[in-house]
Amino acid sequence: MFSKRVDGVKASEIREILKLAARNDIISFAGGLPAPELFPVEKMKEVSRYVLDNMGEEALQYSPTEGYVPLRDFIAGRMAKTGYPTNRDEILIISGSQQGLDFAGKIFLNPGDTVLCESPTYLGAVNAFRAYEGNFREVDTDDEGMIPEDLEKALKETDNVKFIYVIPDFQNPSGRTWSLERRKALIELAGKYRIPVVEDNPYGELIFEGERQPSIKSLDTEGLVMFLGTFSKTFAPGLRIGWICASPEILSKCIMVKQSSDVQSSSISQREIAVFMEKYDFEEHVETIKKTYKKRRDLMMESIEKYFPEEAKWTYPSGGLFTWVVVPESIDTKELMERTLEETKVAYVPGASFFPNGGVHNTLRLNFSNMPEDKIVEGIRRLGDLLKKEIAL
Ligand code: PMP
Repeated sequence: MFSKRVDGVKASEIREILKLAARNDIISFAGGLPAPELFPVEKMKEVSRYVLDNMGEEALQYSPTEGYVPLRDFIAGRMAKTGYPTNRDEILIISGSQQGLDFAGKIFLNPGDTVLCESPTYLGAVNAFRAYEGNFREVDTDDEGMIPEDLEKALKETDNVKFIYVIPDFQNPSGRTWSLERRKALIELAGKYRIPVVEDNPYGELIFEGERQPSIKSLDTEGLVMFLGTFSKTFAPGLRIGWICASPEILSKCIMVKQSSDVQSSSISQREIAVFMEKYDFEEHVETIKKTYKKRRDLMMESIEKYFPEEAKWTYPSGGLFTWVVVPESIDTKELMERTLEETKVAYVPGASFFPNGGVHNTLRLNFSNMPEDKIVEGIRRLGDLLKKEIAL
């Protein structure tokens, strides 16, 4: 009954875990959810009222595919924070950055084409590209990003490479951030082989210490980078508003596919965000989120140091929502998950699904943004105890 295309797309294992993890008695480090208590609910009540009072009819009407002009202008100006100030002609409003991933698959991939990606990489992107029957060549990655020698080898030796997909800031799932040298090496190789880069950047603004690295987009002199941004982690994912920043050549293809996908992103959500930016201090809002997540990151990392077995290794993320743990190869974190839930009432995401070609079973992803402080310490203690027992077996 169904197309070959959807045959290749597997139901996300993470979804199943998230269903279990939503139970009240579970301490969940599994999802990637922002802290709901930081959503500006009271302010948004005023904003919604203002939008309906002052532009109610247009907020409920169809609107241009490109997006609401004041919001596009705001985003274009704010791209300066990534080292790439631009104008609205390079900004398309989309329904969350996930839609940008779908568009990348749709505009670049023919069945059987290859995407070069980090190893590990974001599962939601893998599934989006699989829907267009893309294959993956995982590029060797260390704490500083993709290793240029392996990237060049992949570019040279792989047939039909159509784009390189990367999450350079506080990566999902690894929590790692690319160094400037690796960013430069990537853009140089992309230019040499004339291959587009999809730079997915939902977490860059959530930086806890140090200087933000320039985006790969800001190093791009040839219009090869399609940058994806979102308000999901700095504002509210339920509004479903993100953006693509790209050359008019790439953007015009995205506009075309958006017309047949959902015509436009929500008129009312776009106006609500634009009005919020006018009435309130968005920078202050982002600072509050950063302060809360930094505290939770600190607590999680201190607790990991204290309670995890010495055989485990982990990332120390300087921003974002996640840390990443590598345990001894004798442990299969997917097999262990069910028992962990039962015995400790703690949930994590087994890392295996973040490797599109499989083969790695001893990693796990932990989220620190969503659980209150006391649960972070308790959950990590329980998980640490269980891991120590497993290793001793
Ligand atoms: N890219 C990455 C790396 C993500 O982690 C997420 C959200 N978990 C997304 C894209 C999609 O986010 P949204 O559609 O809410 O902007």
